[in-house]
Amino acid sequence: MALSGVEIFKLLPKTNCKKCGHPTCLAFAMKLAQRQASLDLCPDVSEEAKKILGEASAPPIRPITMGSGDKAVKMGEETVLFRHDKKFVNPCAFAVEIKDTLSEEEVSNIAEQVVNSEIDRVGQKLRVDAIALTNESKDAGKLEAAAKIVAAKAPAVPVIICTENPQAAEGALKLFADKRPVIYGANASNAEAMANIAKTGKAILGVYAGGLDELSTLTEKIKSLGVEDMVIDSGARKAKDIIEHNTLIRRAAVKKNFKPLGYPVINFMQRENSLHEALLAVIGVSKYSSIIVLSSVEKWKNLALFTLRQNIYTDPQVPMQVEQKIYNIGDPNPDSPLFITTNFSLTYFIVSGEIENSKVASRLAVMDSEGLSVLTAWAAGKFTASKIAQFIQESGVEKDIQHKELIIPGYVAILSGSIEDKLPGWKITVGPREANAIPAFLKSRVA
Ligand code: SF4
Repeated sequence: MALSGVEIFKLLPKTNCKKCGHPTCLAFAMKLAQRQASLDLCPDVSEEAKKILGEASAPPIRPITMGSGDKAVKMGEETVLFRHDKKFVNPCAFAVEIKDTLSEEEVSNIAEQVVNSEIDRVGQKLRVDAIALTNESKDAGKLEAAAKIVAAKAPAVPVIICTENPQAAEGALKLFADKRPVIYGANASNAEAMANIAKTGKAILGVYAGGLDELSTLTEKIKSLGVEDMVIDSGARKAKDIIEHNTLIRRAAVKKNFKPLGYPVINFMQRENSLHEALLAVIGVSKYSSIIVLSSVEKWKNLALFTLRQNIYTDPQVPMQVEQKIYNIGDPNPDSPLFITTNFSLTYFIVSGEIENSKVASRLAVMDSEGLSVLTAWAAGKFTASKIAQFIQESGVEKDIQHKELIIPGYVAILSGSIEDKLPGWKITVGPREANAIPAFLKSRVA
């Protein structure tokens, strides 16, 4: 059970040394109780207290990583029911089903589509994250054959091997050694055998039950068999049941610290009708799925789901930012215009999009303003004449251009004189206030 702030305080050194960044041990204890601080911050806590507090302060939903390398998917670690309470930690993963009844060519094509599904949106790489290989044929040989193709075509993509047959699971698992796959299909009748395979193969175990009571009994049993890493499926398939079960699981884990349901949730959303499938997936993204299994890779569906996921899993307290640097738009030459703006993602994408629309190759200097938009950054003292001058001087852009003209956003026209003072030899031009006026502005310069 979770400990109260006072119970935690009793286990701390009580020296108020402030090394944890908090004014007192009590203040730190209160933060720990609210899961807003990590015990590692206190260097003097005793081993015994660490053990007690470590268990009590572990995230209510077990952190688990599926796959390995750059494309590994982190799951769990969630601590809240609602994003505005703090933030959602690990975005849900989208997995696409590949049935072992498909032809070699079809298996290969879908695996390739998954590999090529990656898009860049506001500076983040978004993709179909995993492949769910299902033993539709019930034949261990066919599952292994399909697994071989997936392992060859999409070696970096995390895999979920779906079968209730322990031998089939074992055969396919060998192909993904050290890649932390999920073996999905442990149930009341095969739990021991599947647990053994997962333990030996260092795999995550996907546990299936017909309802929440059966599910929690099963996870406790599997844990007692030595398997710690599980993803859970309550058997919910209809929209109403998915919302209900996923919410009850999250609530039990986060509010009651109920460990038997404190695991990432896997939901199977495959439907013949793509729109129906996408709507179910929307429920999963919004309501606590950690893995959503879909039937196909379709660009329209991916774009909608990726965008929703990105928005829900953005930390509401941290503005989205892009990297501070000089961005080339088109193929600029030494005479091309040089704009400057702030590094709030939305600002960057709107301004760069409008420059692109103008078809005038340009350079866009994007300055770190801690993710604030132009006016807010200016008001907060993060987009000032001295900072702009320093950034331009240190960026090295001068070696790539023949002119010394910097176009600043119209909203900060007031800065033009002071930037000229700080950047001797430069001409500061005031650009449009709104980005959508950039194409006309650029056209007027050419004319
Ligand atoms: S570092 Fe540890 S001992 Fe020091 S104030 Fe923080 S909790 Fe107390």
